[in-house]
Amino acid sequence: MDFGLGEEVTAIQDMARKFTQQEILSGPEEDGFKRDLVTKMGELGLFGCAFPPRYGGSDSGFLAHSVVTEEISRADSGLRPLFNLQALTVPYTIMEWGIPDVKDKYVEDLVSAKRIGCTCFSEPNAGSDIASIETRIEDRGDHFLINGAKTWISNGTIADLAIVYGTHDRNLKHRGLCAVVVETDQPGWSTRDTPKLGDKASPIAEIYMENVKAPKENLLGEWGKGFTIAMTALDRGRISVASGAVGLAQACLDASVKYANERVQFGKLIGEYQLVKGVIAEMVSQVEAARLLVRRGAWLNDKDRPFTREIAIAKYFAGEAVVKAAGMAMEVHGGMGYSLEMPVEKYYRDSKLYQVGEGTSNIMRLLIADDALGIKKANRPRIHVPSDFRDLN
Ligand SMILES: Cc1cc2nc3c(=O)[nH]c(=O)nc-3n(C[C@H](O)[C@H](O)[C@H](O)COP(=O)(O)OP(=O)(O)OC[C@H]3O[C@@H](n4cnc5c(N)ncnc54)[C@H](O)[C@@H]3O)c2cc1C
Repeated sequence: MDFGLGEEVTAIQDMARKFTQQEILSGPEEDGFKRDLVTKMGELGLFGCAFPPRYGGSDSGFLAHSVVTEEISRADSGLRPLFNLQALTVPYTIMEWGIPDVKDKYVEDLVSAKRIGCTCFSEPNAGSDIASIETRIEDRGDHFLINGAKTWISNGTIADLAIVYGTHDRNLKHRGLCAVVVETDQPGWSTRDTPKLGDKASPIAEIYMENVKAPKENLLGEWGKGFTIAMTALDRGRISVASGAVGLAQACLDASVKYANERVQFGKLIGEYQLVKGVIAEMVSQVEAARLLVRRGAWLNDKDRPFTREIAIAKYFAGEAVVKAAGMAMEVHGGMGYSLEMPVEKYYRDSKLYQVGEGTSNIMRLLIADDALGIKKANRPRIHVPSDFRDLN
């Protein structure tokens, strides 16, 4: 076994780290969506690891995507949802399931950040249970007509296009789901900003669709096969979420080590006390274990092997590890953890999303336990996407 990243991925990691040091960590500390920063990330190719050159990518794979995500999140985990959507969930799903014209129209624009994308699964009555989606997609002959409401949509207020999951027949549950690309300037599309705890760099929206039209060519995959598309997109998204959790947990560790080496109490650095050392050792172990699990998942995907089980384990472990790490960082900082002058209060707020997004910790535990108990195998043979974009270089 070789646990090294290899030359190419190490170079990409260095480039991403340099970028975050120059553009994120040394910049003004105000929180919020920054279009200029996203444009720079696109221009530098940070969104392109998983894409072939034809679509503006570097073809360096999901392991490379994972290490870049980790670096972004280590600098500002609030950017991670946006990063996932631009670098993976929206363009990758279109690349896998769209017809050639639709891929040509959208994928490169997303990877280069000329356009911003969002993915719309969640609804007021459909969160973990995606099969209960109520948004209606009707086939009106020469176009689709979409009606419904979505909640918790990252990038929702700023997106130029969206992948909307809806049903053509609610009675069919998951077999009725369809996925359609919708341009958000269509009449009937409206959004409302959702105030939230953390992740301020990636805005969240409620979305309302009233008789919104989409061209027929914008259907992804087959009519009624949206559930399969959703599941493959979520598996890949978990690589991104779990990588982001590792990055933020590393930031918690970095801040704690720095503080423990500076703060003096009872005449000694607090890092010299065994109880503080114990907390640091726990954080180091959690971060390293989470990172190995995540990289295994990304590597399996790069090797075209099933990875649903492995990435669920990674997402569950890393999601829990980062929340623990953020709590431990607060502990090491004492009262200063509570201060807006220190980064750890933001780490604490941002960490909670990792137990929720791309499948909650409970949903991951169900998947892992059902597999272990022989109730339902998590890993299925790889799904063959309609067109093999890997030949398109
Ligand atoms: C910051 C943020 C960004 C998001 N971005 C997006 C986005 O871009 N696009 C999008 O579509 N969605 C997005 N979401 C929504 C997210 O995917 C959902 O919040 C998540 O899937 C959980 O759904 P829910 O909130 O409705 O919780 P629920 O499904 O209602 O779950 C509530 C609780 O019940 C538990 N639970 C539910 N079912 C079971 C079960 N069968 N067994 C055991 N426990 C169960 C859950 O684990 C959880 O603890 C985002 C959410 C947040 C907070």
